[in-house]
Amino acid sequence: MQTQSDIRLTPQRQVILEELAKVKTHPTANEVYDMVRKRLPRIGLGTVYRNLELMADNGMILKLEVGGSQKRFDATTDLHYHIRCTGCGRVDDIQFSAMPQLDQLAANSSDYQVLGHHIEFSGICESCDDPQEAKK
Ligand SMILES: [Zn+2]
Ligand SMILES: [Zn+2]
Repeated sequence: MQTQSDIRLTPQRQVILEELAKVKTHPTANEVYDMVRKRLPRIGLGTVYRNLELMADNGMILKLEVGGSQKRFDATTDLHYHIRCTGCGRVDDIQFSAMPQLDQLAANSSDYQVLGHHIEFSGICESCDDPQEAKK
C-alpha cells in the first residue's frame, strides 16, 4: 500500500522517528517527548505532539487510540495486533500474522467499503501477574 507521505522529514521529525523506532513500548506523546528531549533539549512538548499527529496522519507512524485513555505511538506501520495490560496499561505487539482477509469478511457482511481494521487484545502482563500472589 502506498502512503501519502509528502510531508518533509525535517530534522525534528527524523529524531522523533528514530527515537520511536528504538522502542517497542508504544510510548505516549509525553514519553516520546522525554526521549527526544535528550537529543533536542530545546524542543517543546507541543512541537513533539503536533509532529506525532502529523506523521500519524501521513502514515509514517501509527497512532493507537483503542483502549487506554492516552494516545500511544508506534513506528511499526505494518498491519499488526496489540495486547494491552488491564493492570498497568502497557501495550505490546502480538507476534502472529495479521489477517488481511478480515477486511474482506467485513466487506462481505456490510455495505461499507472497508479500509482496514485494528485488533487489540486485553490481558494481564507478566509483571502484573505477580508470582508472589500466586504462591499464597
Ligand atoms: Zn501490567
Ligand atoms: Zn505495535
